[in-house]
Amino acid sequence: MHQVLQLNADYQPLKVIRWQRAVELVLGERVVLVAAWPNRFVRSASLALPWPAVVALRRYSALRGRVRFSSRSVQARDNFTCGYCGLRPLLANGMPDRQQLTMDHVIPRAQAREGKVHLPWLRTWVNVTCWENTVTACRACNARKADRTPLQARMPLRIFPRVPTQHDVLRMTLARAAEIPEPWQPWLPAGVVIPHDATALPDDLSFRGA
Ligand SMILES: [Zn+2]
Repeated sequence: MHQVLQLNADYQPLKVIRWQRAVELVLGERVVLVAAWPNRFVRSASLALPWPAVVALRRYSALRGRVRFSSRSVQARDNFTCGYCGLRPLLANGMPDRQQLTMDHVIPRAQAREGKVHLPWLRTWVNVTCWENTVTACRACNARKADRTPLQARMPLRIFPRVPTQHDVLRMTLARAAEIPEPWQPWLPAGVVIPHDATALPDDLSFRGA
């Protein structure tokens, strides 16, 4: 109840915000209230406002979610799942066990030239540490792969390393929410709350000619 789903003006989900921020936006007439919690009110001296669950921007925001690159963000993009063996280690409380996971450079750092590597599946050169060349790996897979490409190591990737899409950003945001409240569910695209996001892999991700 402390978090509010914010939709764009076209009612596509954008992000999760704190309820205080949602109240500010409602009072500032920046958003409309789409869904409220029944029989709950935000009270002040002068008003009682329905407690927001879902709000929508009045004006369309072209600003799409961006995620700062970090090893944690790479893990979140990959749903805390090893990109090679599919292991998804969990703590006793059901949260991902991040200590068991590492960030792997798909084309290894050892094969970089002046800090750049060539990604054959994108046909481009990128910085060795970037969204497109990093993937979550469990400790065992990272050690086994060592300074080799997936092709050299015969370890095909299950996850497509990518700049997070809007769908990824939303999924990553929702993963941080303790639960998905019932009033949000009609506004979430089908599949976004399914933990494993099986993104179709392009054919050439098997690193032919890498
Ligand atoms: Zn693994």
